[in-house]
Amino acid sequence: MLLVVTKQCSHLSDNLRFDRYTIQVGAMKPIPQNLGVICLYDGAGVENFDTRQIGEYLGQWFGPDCVQIRSEFVRHHLRSHGRMDEQTLESRARDICKARIEDPANPLEKREPNPEQLVQERKWLLQGVVNREVFYDGLALQRTYLELLVGEETSLEFVHIVFTNRLIGTWDQSDRRYHARVSVYGWPSVISTTGVVEAPARPREYYFGFMAGLDERQLREELAGRFIDYGDPRLTDLLKGYTMQAVFYHLLGDPFCDNPDCRLFNAHWQEQMIRAQLGPGGEFCSKHQKLLKELADK
Ligand SMILES: [Zn+2]
Repeated sequence: MLLVVTKQCSHLSDNLRFDRYTIQVGAMKPIPQNLGVICLYDGAGVENFDTRQIGEYLGQWFGPDCVQIRSEFVRHHLRSHGRMDEQTLESRARDICKARIEDPANPLEKREPNPEQLVQERKWLLQGVVNREVFYDGLALQRTYLELLVGEETSLEFVHIVFTNRLIGTWDQSDRRYHARVSVYGWPSVISTTGVVEAPARPREYYFGFMAGLDERQLREELAGRFIDYGDPRLTDLLKGYTMQAVFYHLLGDPFCDNPDCRLFNAHWQEQMIRAQLGPGGEFCSKHQKLLKELADK
C-alpha cells in the first residue's frame, strides 16, 4: 500500500522546494532534487501511438539519457526478474481481474474473478492484446502494477509511466459512479489511449444529434476534427502533454494548470483537450515553460 502526501510550497518557481513524502511501509523519503530515469512502458499497442516519439519528446526537455523505453509494464518486470512462470502469471492475472469494474454505478468490491475472465487476462498478459471494452478501476490497477516494482526501481529517482489501451476509471463520490479517465497519476502513472477517446466529453452537438436519432457515422463526419476517435493520427502528439503531466506529478505533486492553452490543463471536454494539447497557443504557459526549463537544467 502506497500513500503519497503532497504539500506545495508557496513560491514554486523561486526555489523548487516541495514538502513531499512518500510513505511506504512506514518509511519516509523526501523527493529527490534531480530527475533520474523516466521509464515509458510501451503497452498500448494501438494504431498511431508511438511510445518512441514520446521518449524523444521528453529527451528534448530532459536529455535522451533520462528516458528509457520498455516493453509492456507487467511483462517487462516479470521477465526482468525471471518470473514469467505459471504461478506468477496466474497471480498477476488474478489481481488485474479484481480491478475490473462490473457495474459503473457500484464501487469495486472484493471478489474472486470468474475462471473465464482469469483465462482472458492471462492470455492478454502474454500477448499484450487487450479488449478496450473492459473497464478497470484505475487506482486498483495502479496498485497491482506497484507490487511489481522492486529494488532500486522503487526509488523516487525512477518515474514509471505505463501506456495501456485498457479503459480506466475512478470512482466519484459526488455522483456515486465511475468515470472514465485518460490518466491516473501516481506511482506508477497510468495513461490510457482508450481513455483519450472515451473519457473527455464530445461536442454537445454529438450527443444532441445522437439523442435526436441522427446517424452516428454522419455525426462523426460532420464533427470530424473536433474530437479524437480511434486511430486518430493526432494521438501521439496529444499524449506528449499527458506524459508531461505525469512527470510534473512525480516531481512536484501537481500535474495541472488552469490555463486552457497549456498542455497541463485538466480537460473535461474533447475540444478543451485538443486546444490544450494541439492548439495554436503553444505548448506550455509562461509559468510552466519557465518551470520546465528550470527542472530540465537541474
Ligand atoms: Zn501551465
